[in-house]
Amino acid sequence: MAFSCPAVSEKNVGNHDACKTCPNYKVCMGARQEAAELKQIKERFENVKHIILVLSGKGGVGKSTIAAQLAYSLASQDFKVGVLDVDITGPSIPKMFGLEDERIHETFLGWSPVFNSDNIAVMSIAFLLSHPENAVIWRGPKKNGLIKQFVRDVYWDELDYLIVDTPPGTSDEHLSIASFLEEKIDGAILVTTPQEVSLLDVRREVTFCKKANVNIIGVVENMSSFICSCGHESVIFKPTTGGAEKMCQEMNLKLLGKLPLDISLRESCDLGISFFNEVNESKAIRALREITETIKKEIENKKEKKEDKKEEKKEEEDFDEF
Ligand code: SF4
Repeated sequence: MAFSCPAVSEKNVGNHDACKTCPNYKVCMGARQEAAELKQIKERFENVKHIILVLSGKGGVGKSTIAAQLAYSLASQDFKVGVLDVDITGPSIPKMFGLEDERIHETFLGWSPVFNSDNIAVMSIAFLLSHPENAVIWRGPKKNGLIKQFVRDVYWDELDYLIVDTPPGTSDEHLSIASFLEEKIDGAILVTTPQEVSLLDVRREVTFCKKANVNIIGVVENMSSFICSCGHESVIFKPTTGGAEKMCQEMNLKLLGKLPLDISLRESCDLGISFFNEVNESKAIRALREITETIKKEIENKKEKKEDKKEEKKEEEDFDEF
């Protein structure tokens, strides 16, 4: 005979008299706990207007540099920005914000991010490590648990943008973030270099985003050229298959911009200071400003489309009722 659960309402799950002897008790309690945690996570991000994931198919393409510079760029426009570093195996965000010696602070509201300036708040796994060089070797469930703790327990307060720096590739961390933050994520920025090996991996990221239902804001081609301190520009990673531009055309993706390798930019990252405070005018700074503006526009377009769809759906429902 088929088992029929008597605890008809969500409130009763695990609490009904029948639950005490039910073979599904453990499963139900696990699901109840999960639902409660997801609710907590939702509440945590209530005051965060936009969430952007920064992804790359492979390491060494400058993903964290783009994440950090995007944060600096938005902060230079007086937006309140948060940076969440979930690159568990190689967190480099603290260095880029000059926060290497910082540790997590606990308050009655939860874990408090560390402030680089009035409007940039940073949280990184590195703040939990006793030494910055300690490699974090955690397996699936533990990593998932840590990421859950990061999204559930950090108190961000009000933010215009939260930028999430993820590890290279597609792994447990990406799946965890995508499932915990779900529709709160505005989209992902994919970072690549012009080389075919990097572009191939970006194609895998695209597949991941589609499967995980993460909107792709666009692609940034990093290290498109090299700008010497004398100002001379040369191409060091000559694209063999047309670079990110061609890939974007083929895959119907938005090319957000091309960022050159710039010595001043590298120095700013090494020193943990804002490139935007250091340099007034350069090709790299112009590229970063354009990339920032395009990202903001893409997010607004997506928001408008979402609202139009909601409106259409509501009109259809009203029409059906009529
Ligand atoms: S444990 Fe779950 S399935 Fe079993 S009676 Fe309770 S709510 Fe229903």
